[in-house]
Amino acid sequence: MKMVKKSVHFLQHAFRKHSVSPSLCASMDCGTRRLTKTRLIDSDCRLLSGDFLLHEDGSYSISKGHEDVVEEISAENRIITRSFQNWHTHSAMVLNKSFGEGLPLMEWLERAIFPVEKGLTPEFVKIGTLAAAAEMISSGTTFACDMYFFPETIANSYLESGIRAKVCAAVSDNDEIYDSKSALINIEKLLSSEQKSSDLIEFGIGPHSIYSCDEETLIKSSELSKKYDCTLSIHASETRKEVTDCYEIHGMYPIEYLDSIDFLSEGTICAHCGWVTKKEMRILSRNGAHAVHCPTSNQKLACGGTLSYPAMKDAEVSVLLGTDGAASNNSLDMRSEAKTASLIQKHDHWDASILNPEETWKLATNNSKDWITWDLDDIRLRPWGEGGSRLLPNLIYSGGDILDVFVSGNAIRRNGITQTINEREISEELENLVKDYYDS
Ligand SMILES: [Zn+2]
Repeated sequence: MKMVKKSVHFLQHAFRKHSVSPSLCASMDCGTRRLTKTRLIDSDCRLLSGDFLLHEDGSYSISKGHEDVVEEISAENRIITRSFQNWHTHSAMVLNKSFGEGLPLMEWLERAIFPVEKGLTPEFVKIGTLAAAAEMISSGTTFACDMYFFPETIANSYLESGIRAKVCAAVSDNDEIYDSKSALINIEKLLSSEQKSSDLIEFGIGPHSIYSCDEETLIKSSELSKKYDCTLSIHASETRKEVTDCYEIHGMYPIEYLDSIDFLSEGTICAHCGWVTKKEMRILSRNGAHAVHCPTSNQKLACGGTLSYPAMKDAEVSVLLGTDGAASNNSLDMRSEAKTASLIQKHDHWDASILNPEETWKLATNNSKDWITWDLDDIRLRPWGEGGSRLLPNLIYSGGDILDVFVSGNAIRRNGITQTINEREISEELENLVKDYYDS
């Protein structure tokens, strides 16, 4: 417990001193770790056995046993893998979890979500984001691409948690409190300040969608993202209604429309893309934009369509995976999102070979620089099979507990206990806050 307090103290100190730009090594316990008598699945899904060094820069090497390390972990009951990367979420929407159950997307937004969001304050966002980060850490995620209100508060909460984040400030013309003009002025202030140089946290811009932002807001958001070379994130082609409405107004489908106003560029995040034509896929590919598959949210909100992975792959679109907010998923657990993605693609295309374990794993961990360890004593991971051949499929389809999480040399979870956030305290704070949120 002593180490827990020390890590939190150093992170909080870094947080106060540097706002959102701490050193990567945020505690005295930061640095290379040696994990012995263990197994490791590398970024290419190769399974290795032995003693490994996990370095601060995210690389690993074989240990010879005499290196200077900050900690040695006897890891016989663990398997080391890359961490999960959640490419689309609204972290503080854990506040809305299990609210508006049974409503389809537009009704859910208009009747359940938008009215209550009028009472949103930085305090709600802070506790919501910390609770979301705690859930992500406990399930092995070390990066989130977030889109919500009060971006400074979100960034500071992620910083406290120790994981990486792209914090895209939500922009919407529909909102009565956070109008798009003030949101864009605020995000430009953040982007032009020195805070953007943070190693773990980046700011971006998140115009909500083509149905909640007018053309001027979409164009300004895109121009600002190009000016500051930051992430631009939008919901696109999530429902059939969005697509048919867009065609009625503009004579084009949403991705075509976004292309026609020069909105898309290299790295633009288009969440959902459940109702897109092959022509639109080619447009995404030509612009270097990403399509983020959010299969659980699409199913829970009865969107009727979800991203077609094989068609996107044929069109050479970069596909990423995300949970969406906990309000439309009930979970921020990328372990289950990876499983759901693989299952829905197989099911929808009548082809059990689509998104095999290796490809699913790469989709869910997408160039992760961080490491997690799983509890190999977990019965769900048995049998491992000869030479551990069943381990990777078991990790995806059977599940398992996450014991440790390492980000840039910092141990933000050890032996099943998150070091940077007290899960019990944040759970109680969230419980109390939710009562106030729905009273306001
Ligand atoms: Zn979303």
